[in-house]
Amino acid sequence: MPCYNEEEILPHTLANVAIFFAKCVQDGVIDPDSFVLCVDDGSRDTTWDLVIQAAKADPRVRGTKLSRNTGHQTALVAGLSAVRDCDVIVSIDADLQDDLLVIRDMLAAWRNGYDIVYGVRNERKTDTLFKRETARIFYRLMLLMGVNLVPNHADFRLMDRRALDALLEYGERNLFLRGLVPLIGFPSTSVYYARLERTAGESKYPLSRMIGLAVEGITSLSVTPLRIIALTGILISSFAVLAICYALVGKGTGHTVPGWTSVTIAIFFMGGVQMLSLGIIGEYIGKIYLETKRRPRYHVENATWKNNR
Ligand code: UDP
Ligand code: MG
Repeated sequence: MPCYNEEEILPHTLANVAIFFAKCVQDGVIDPDSFVLCVDDGSRDTTWDLVIQAAKADPRVRGTKLSRNTGHQTALVAGLSAVRDCDVIVSIDADLQDDLLVIRDMLAAWRNGYDIVYGVRNERKTDTLFKRETARIFYRLMLLMGVNLVPNHADFRLMDRRALDALLEYGERNLFLRGLVPLIGFPSTSVYYARLERTAGESKYPLSRMIGLAVEGITSLSVTPLRIIALTGILISSFAVLAICYALVGKGTGHTVPGWTSVTIAIFFMGGVQMLSLGIIGEYIGKIYLETKRRPRYHVENATWKNNR
């Protein structure tokens, strides 16, 4: 659970988590030694003190404090990397906009053999129109750029040990989890829920951060923007050929000012060549970029023999 300046809501959240845990343990749905890990993402308020207090009072609360504010995604990764000994984890926001009870459905799906269970919002009535619309544009844009996302899934998801180990093999520094998890490819499914309202505190995702997240998501997972340059180059080059013909015909019929033809031809020709060259360079840069990530090429999902790590 990443927490950034969540003092207003954290006590309430942890109280709810405690009740939820108690009920789940009672029903035999989770192990009694399950715990919630609060990752304090460099909060400037009393969030960390609250975590320490809660951890003292309840052994099921643990805390990790990051030295500075690193952003939601990195805070999540810090948490995921810290839980080396767990069979299964669920990532959830600190504001409980994502319904705790849905975790039961996630666990049920996991017991049915799914390694990854996505929490998907089937309605976002409680989000503002602006948030809904920007989110819609975001998912559309990502799909357009060839990034495979589960629509309306944020970072509320269950992963078992195997999926988590696979995720942590991805070498990139800036992890855009929503785009990476589908790349793992292990059996996965979705559970649906209605997103609740934030009951206290305010969203830490203003527009500037949302744009940052979108840019990060696209550029870290796709080289389509570079390819668009190459395509534009081809388009401009074809147009240049037409324009050059037009200029030559104009010259032939004598309807032009002296010098116009050569200047026009030069401009169009150079424009086309430059854009195309940029595109070709872009293709290579894209390759270099993807290679430097040193991503795992595959994950073993199953084998007829042991020790397949
Ligand atoms: N968060 C974080 N670091 C940040 C910003 C947010 O750890 O720099 C956490 C925040 O505490 C919350 C989660 O990420 O648990 C989602 O943030 P928020 O609820 O503000 O986003 P929204 O639900 O409005 O998209
Ligand atoms: Mg929220």
